[in-house]
Amino acid sequence: MRRNKNDDSQLGMGQPITRRDFVNGMAIAATAALPVAAAFAQVTQPNANLSPAAQDAPGYYPPLLTGLRGSHPGSFEAAHALRDGNTGPAPTDTGETYDLIIVGGGISGLSAAHFYKARTSKRARILILDNHDDFGGHAKRNEYHLERALHLMNGGTLEIDSPRPYSSVATGLLRALGIDVAKLARTTQHLQFYEQRGMRAGVFFDAETFGADKLIVGAGDTPYWQLLDAAPLSARARQQIAQIQREKIDYLPALGSAAKKDRLSRISYEAFLRDLVGAEDSVLRYYHARTMGEWGVGTDAVSALDCWGFGLPGFQGMQLHKGSIRRMGYTPAGYEDTGGSLRLHFPDGNATIARLLVRDLIPHAIPGQGAESVVTARVDYSQLDRSALPIRIRLNSTAIRVEHLGDPSTARQVRVTYLRDGRAFTATARAAVLACYNMMIPYLCPELPVSQQQALHSLVKTPLVYTTVALRDWRAFENLKLHSVYAPGGYHTGFRLNPHVEVGDYRSVSSPQAPILLHMVRTPCRPGLPEHEQNRAGRAELLDTSFETFERNIRSQLNRTLGGGGFDAARDITGITVNRWPHGYAPEYNPLFDADVPEHERPNVLGRAPFGRIVIANSDAGGAAYTDSAIDQAHRAIEELLHKRA
Ligand SMILES: Cc1cc2nc3c(=O)[nH]c(=O)nc-3n(C[C@H](O)[C@H](O)[C@H](O)COP(=O)(O)OP(=O)(O)OC[C@H]3O[C@@H](n4cnc5c(N)ncnc54)[C@H](O)[C@@H]3O)c2cc1C
Repeated sequence: MRRNKNDDSQLGMGQPITRRDFVNGMAIAATAALPVAAAFAQVTQPNANLSPAAQDAPGYYPPLLTGLRGSHPGSFEAAHALRDGNTGPAPTDTGETYDLIIVGGGISGLSAAHFYKARTSKRARILILDNHDDFGGHAKRNEYHLERALHLMNGGTLEIDSPRPYSSVATGLLRALGIDVAKLARTTQHLQFYEQRGMRAGVFFDAETFGADKLIVGAGDTPYWQLLDAAPLSARARQQIAQIQREKIDYLPALGSAAKKDRLSRISYEAFLRDLVGAEDSVLRYYHARTMGEWGVGTDAVSALDCWGFGLPGFQGMQLHKGSIRRMGYTPAGYEDTGGSLRLHFPDGNATIARLLVRDLIPHAIPGQGAESVVTARVDYSQLDRSALPIRIRLNSTAIRVEHLGDPSTARQVRVTYLRDGRAFTATARAAVLACYNMMIPYLCPELPVSQQQALHSLVKTPLVYTTVALRDWRAFENLKLHSVYAPGGYHTGFRLNPHVEVGDYRSVSSPQAPILLHMVRTPCRPGLPEHEQNRAGRAELLDTSFETFERNIRSQLNRTLGGGGFDAARDITGITVNRWPHGYAPEYNPLFDADVPEHERPNVLGRAPFGRIVIANSDAGGAAYTDSAIDQAHRAIEELLHKRA
């Protein structure tokens, strides 16, 4: 975003906000604010071989932390060092033995523990390792207390929502956890809350991309393109947008439906708009970010056919027959064929599912019963890793080696080495589930066959950022009659007020005078490159971007967009959490760049083959960036393990 000259003081860069209450990446609860060493000193050592654990310290409560979260400082350095060939210090044997060690405490790893326990014994001994200071993987929450009221936002995984209905396995797990999706969707979500107040979606045109700053409110209205008369676009560009949105034109009249679909699967949406529709550059720029929330890349890297399946405009006159073809990505194909799953947004997104799984595995850690009560419950992190309990979740622990003790075909044990606080430890188990990012598994398991390593390594994830901004009030939004913004040239390409959800004791705000949380989305990428190269470039950029840069861009973007409503970043912003996910969405098949091979030859399928006593889970293994995929893959992995041992 463009910087004003007087910038930093006008933007409020020096204002005290909740943002920097972490010390060298170590998680200390904002309320407790203990220095790390002091926190350690208060902890009794659970095992003589283990360092005193931060997670056992009184007041340890990562959901309250702000600043750079998601892949927070301290969570990824060990894995990157391993990638760069540093295998860590000589390990200390903890002497611990388990039935199962699970690498990765996301929804998939937690589900794997649930399925293993259900299929074996309530007393099954399971250790779950995760490199973050909190459990849940992407399914984490941001917790703010504003004027003494609890405000929640998803730090990653937004909601139950998938391109296909949940499988019986995933549905069964949700039911077992006490989640009745249909009922809760009906009773807890007030989807029209802002609309009923006369508030609408808007588009912000920025000067750098379109020549002038201009906010247009009413993007959800029909015919909204008439509103674009006020946009900094030429008359021709406005006419083209109107045409794309509403005209029924067949841009490939000589071809039948099947041939059209094949053709559209081989060109990007951007190429479709440019070469078939004849759209000028400013129109391409207007649509460019429309694919970013779903794919993490712009319209240059998503096929036109996938955009048709996802419901983007321009195809209404193309006479394409209903139904997917093989050359379609998982997401658009699923929506096209089935219309998608039920949808449900908890106030903290799918962090509620992660919490319910943890409560199921370690009941002491989270009081209460049922899905409604878990939303406002406080997790007792000191209960997660107790030697007296059969299931343990060890945080801040990066696995760096998973190997069989002996020949993989006959070995009876696996050994896992992990790094915590710069020290290496080992523990053994009868089997291991790798529910972590699949692309790093070759570094963990160099004994895997080379072809499997290559398949795993190719599973490049999509980087993205979900930023949570605490606001003193939302009067500016009310004044502008605005609840959300699409910003095609913005640092964050979209933002919206916290959805109105009321569940259990949790209440959303109703008065514009009250504080609220704002959700912003940024997808770093490098347009013009193949998808995975864009992902890699975006990831590098993300890890290189300081909190200060994020903050300045957030303040500037909100001032420029909302200034007309009286917004003042220096006064109105009270907290910022940047949830950065350099390894975000699981990669899905992209017909523009990926080999057109049958499903069983795709890299996620080749990569997840069981190896001795090691099995592979995570949504990566499903080639689908969804919670149900994370659950289904955990179930498959556990079944493979038990089948093999039977
Ligand atoms: C910003 C964002 C929004 C999303 N929104 C939705 C949504 O609305 N709905 C939906 O269904 N899905 C959504 N997803 C997809 C989401 O990834 C899945 O739903 C699901 O949460 C994935 O769970 P997982 O356990 O497979 O992977 P993860 O959540 O990635 O968990 C894997 C865990 O393993 C850890 N790990 C990796 N390597 C190691 C190691 N060596 N040692 C120890 N631990 C390790 C990781 O750090 C991580 O904590 C979203 C994803 C992102 C990033």
